Order: sequence, then structure tokens, then C-alpha cells
Amino acid sequence: MINVLFTNDVETTSILNHKLRDETAEYVLNQGMPRLLDLYEKYNVKATFFYTGYIAKLKPEVVKMAYERGHEIGSHGLSHKVENAFDVLSYEKQIEHLTTSKNIIEDIIGDEIISFRAPAARVQKNTTRALFETGFKIDSSVSSQRLDMFMSFGGLKKLNWLFAPRMPYFTEQNNIFKKGDGEILEIPISAFGFPYIGTFMRIAPPLNRMTRNLLYLESKINERPINFLTHPNEFIDEEYDGKKIDKRTNNIISYYLGDVLRHKLKVKNLGEKGLPILEQELIFFSQKNIKFATCKEYYSTLKK
Ligand SMILES: [Zn+2]
Repeated sequence: MINVLFTNDVETTSILNHKLRDETAEYVLNQGMPRLLDLYEKYNVKATFFYTGYIAKLKPEVVKMAYERGHEIGSHGLSHKVENAFDVLSYEKQIEHLTTSKNIIEDIIGDEIISFRAPAARVQKNTTRALFETGFKIDSSVSSQRLDMFMSFGGLKKLNWLFAPRMPYFTEQNNIFKKGDGEILEIPISAFGFPYIGTFMRIAPPLNRMTRNLLYLESKINERPINFLTHPNEFIDEEYDGKKIDKRTNNIISYYLGDVLRHKLKVKNLGEKGLPILEQELIFFSQKNIKFATCKEYYSTLKK
């Protein structure tokens, strides 16, 4: 049976305004989350929601609402600030961010969490050890054979993705990108050259359908689970604050290619317009012989 995982990163990133802002959390709470939760309910999907500690603390309700509807809750790190990416944090800081975010979220739901996705999917080799030390069991930050990483932030470091295994794997104890005898299960974010994620789905719906069809064919052969990544903040209708796009780099070429151009692409089909496109993905899978699963449910099917 093919498992299909809908995984959602919940954070205060305003895609339209290209920055982190607290106002965006209101939209996530009042628009993004209800829209996603209703859509998942319509197709009987149990999904996984990864929260930054920051948004969980700011709006605990955003965590509760998914938990109460039977979805899995996980951690998306403590903060989505660029300087807090897990591939630049020291080992000690990774431990601190994992512990703090886990505590914030567990206090809200009164239940243990075991799944993690790093902010911007940026991890380093020893992140797997930090996860083990802090009581996590599952990571979903590696996107094996995703080839558009030069457009995404932290691009070069994601070269590790090229050679990471395609099937879910227990990692090496000190290298999250390699299969080994560690305790952490890596469930890669699906990609077939192009990533199978909400952003790409909105930017290029036909290419996304092609990618999804290829992934499905592959899974029919090897039962690889399909792991789609999206965000409630992709389905909110925010106001533009009229300011210039924040610079994340001082290199002017990098600024135009990496920030300005990327921003123009990323706002396509943002908000309510994106919902019917997402619904097509749910319709596709609901007509197949698959099982919608959370990360935790998939983990429990593996015998180790
Ligand atoms: Zn994120």
C-alpha cells in the first residue's frame, strides 16, 4: 500500500511581504489553517503539521485546532529567522531550539511530539544526533534528488540532497544524509528533479502534475511513500505592506536572482486561488488505492 503524507509547515512567514511578521499569524489562524483543515477533512486526510515554537507561543490555538481534528503535530524549529537555520546553528544551539520548541508545543497539546522538519528544510549532518538527544524519532527535512536547490535559500549546502537515499531511511548516527544504524527515521520530502511542494504546485501546475504522476508511478513499483510539503500561509489573502523586499544578502546579483525574481514567482496563485489547485492533488490520490498517513503512522508501519 502506498502511503501519501501531506505535511504542513506552520510559521509566520508572509510570502506576499517577504518577511516574518506577527500579523501573518492572524491570517494563518483565521484563513490558512481553517481552509486546509476543511479540505483535509473533505478527503479524509490525516496530515502532519510542523510548528515553529514562535508561532505556537504567539497563537497556541493554531496548534490546538489541528490536534483536535486528529492530525499529527510536530516541530518546525524555534524560529524561522535566517540566522536560526539548523545548518548554521552550533550543535548546542540545535539542542536548545529542539528542546524549547518541543516543550512549547507539548505544553499546548498535552501530548508527546516525535516529528521534526527544519526551518527552510536546512539541516546539517549532526542534526540527526541532536534530534536523538532531544527525544525526536522522525525527521522530514531532506529532499532527495531535488534539483532546484540553487533557487532556494541555503542552496549550496543542499548539495547533500543529490545523493541522499530516495526511500525513507534510518540515518547514520552522525550523518542525517546517509542511511545507517541510527535511531532517527528520515522521510524525504518528495522530488523528482522538481520538488513536490505547494510553492512549485502554485507556480507551475502542469509541471507539478507531471512530477506527481512520476512520483506515483515510482511508488507503484517500490512503495515509496509520497511526501507533499505545503504551508497554511500559502492559502491566506494578506494585504501588501508596500515596502521593498527585504535583502537577505549584500550581493546584488544574488539579491535579484535569489530574492526579487524568486518573490515574483512565489506569489503566483497565492491565497484562496491556490486552494482548488491543492484540491486537485487530493482528488488525484483519493481516487487511487493509497493510504493518507501522518509521519508517525508511517513510522509505526516500519519494523526495525
Ligand atoms: Zn518553514
